[in-house]
Amino acid sequence: MDAKFSANAKDLLGKRGLKEADVADVIKTAETSHRKITDGKVSIAKKRIGEVTIYAVYDSHGNVESAYSHRMVLGEPVKTTDEPEVTKWECVHCKEKAIAGTVNMTYMGITRSGPAVVCQKCGDSWVEEYLATKTIAAAEGLFEKKKA
Ligand SMILES: [Zn+2]
Repeated sequence: MDAKFSANAKDLLGKRGLKEADVADVIKTAETSHRKITDGKVSIAKKRIGEVTIYAVYDSHGNVESAYSHRMVLGEPVKTTDEPEVTKWECVHCKEKAIAGTVNMTYMGITRSGPAVVCQKCGDSWVEEYLATKTIAAAEGLFEKKKA
């Protein structure tokens, strides 16, 4: 599947400092490995490229709806409850519903736990756009200030 970018998507990528080729790579890799989550309409895939994890949100035709990134490295899921909330997302690889979970996130040598969509079967996790662009971006900024 080839990634397709609308004018809006290109604009968003530009604002977020993301490259079309990288986002296309994220999608290509996910479509080959089936490592992605889907709600039946859109898929979210991610790939670590250099110092960032890049996410692509795209439909079944490869139309990119959004893309975003974070610098933190996602680690192991952290179990916080015996009755986790199930999300609308399904892990395509495992064919399992993903939960609203917690994972360890490491950045600049510091590990903190944060919210992510987690597949309990394979342990993979995905950070949703609103968290990556707001909460996590703010946390990364604080970490960078402390180290500066
Ligand atoms: Zn899975």
